[in-house]
Amino acid sequence: MAERVFPVTEALYDTDPYQTVFTAVVLGCEETADGQFLIVLDRTGFFPEQGGQSGDRGMLGAVNVLDTQVKAGVITHICDGALSAGETVEGHVDWERRFDFMQNHSGEHLFSGILHWQYGIRNCGFHLSDSVMTADYEQPLSDDVLAEVEEKCCRAVWEDLTVQISYPSEEEQQTLAYRSKKEVDGALRIVTFPGIDVCACCAPHVKRTGEIGLVKVVSAMHYKKGTRVTLACGERAFAMLAEEHRLIKGLAVSFSTKESEVPAQVARLKEKNHELTGQLAEAKAQILSLEAEKLSGTEGPALLFGEDLPDAAMRRTVNGLMETREGLCGVFAKTDKGYRFVLGCAGGGMKEVAAKLRQMLHAGCGGDDRMASGSIPADEAAIREALS
Ligand SMILES: [Zn+2]
Repeated sequence: MAERVFPVTEALYDTDPYQTVFTAVVLGCEETADGQFLIVLDRTGFFPEQGGQSGDRGMLGAVNVLDTQVKAGVITHICDGALSAGETVEGHVDWERRFDFMQNHSGEHLFSGILHWQYGIRNCGFHLSDSVMTADYEQPLSDDVLAEVEEKCCRAVWEDLTVQISYPSEEEQQTLAYRSKKEVDGALRIVTFPGIDVCACCAPHVKRTGEIGLVKVVSAMHYKKGTRVTLACGERAFAMLAEEHRLIKGLAVSFSTKESEVPAQVARLKEKNHELTGQLAEAKAQILSLEAEKLSGTEGPALLFGEDLPDAAMRRTVNGLMETREGLCGVFAKTDKGYRFVLGCAGGGMKEVAAKLRQMLHAGCGGDDRMASGSIPADEAAIREALS
């Protein structure tokens, strides 16, 4: 396709983003190495990927349009089937997806416009795909500012403002104050949300702000020196909030409480869990010391094996054993890959034992000549054998 020169494609979405059925003449069709077809028309309703927004999908005649791209004003439809040059085709833009993009892109203009004109914070990045919309801002944004701007956006939606598209002359551009993301070639296209925003943009927008439905901040994170905000508008925002509401209702039912009581219930549960974990650790430490007592008077290494043993109790038990015997003593706590351990030897020589464990069982450990601790990727039998 690269070697052929096509005329600039007439972009029908520029004047009417709601026109999703159109007829056009096929100017060229070329198969790619991976079996797709690059189709150029004389005019199209398909918005190509640009300015951070994914390209439209839909149908051209009987073939699927998988993606739409643009280069030097020539719009290419990436399709899964061929069309013949010269034939007239009917195009159908996937309206559900296009309208979702319109709701979200227009919502982002409200959000970025309010931050720009009312807070003096510039937008410096934009990404809109099927699953996510993010907008980047040059400065850090506090939770309070995010909540305030979100509410202002929703108020602009409820006011159902008429969105205006214009192409100012070069003379008019001299005096016009507008935001620009340096994203567009060709004639300057200005999208105005009256009283809220004036911005250069090539994308399809809703006619009235009421169509945006809802503007919701999903999350915000530090990005470069500023903030990356994930936003959801329209049906996306509705679907997300409906799902979250379903989840919190489910939690309320499982706690037998009201939705508003769920955070307090979770806090109580966490506190209780913390308390029980402490009690359990104490009980395990007691069992460990009872088992250690049973080893008194026995010959050979005094080794104890258990599960979920607290570090402090393991160390305390080994110290206790070292007071009653000269030889090797240790406690091993089961892990996913083997055992954590604390080993001690009142008479010294731990360094040689540790070296042996490293060599024979690939243990990772550290310590001094009387005590060592670490982990061993081996089972109880192998450890007992190595230490016998
Ligand atoms: Zn835009």
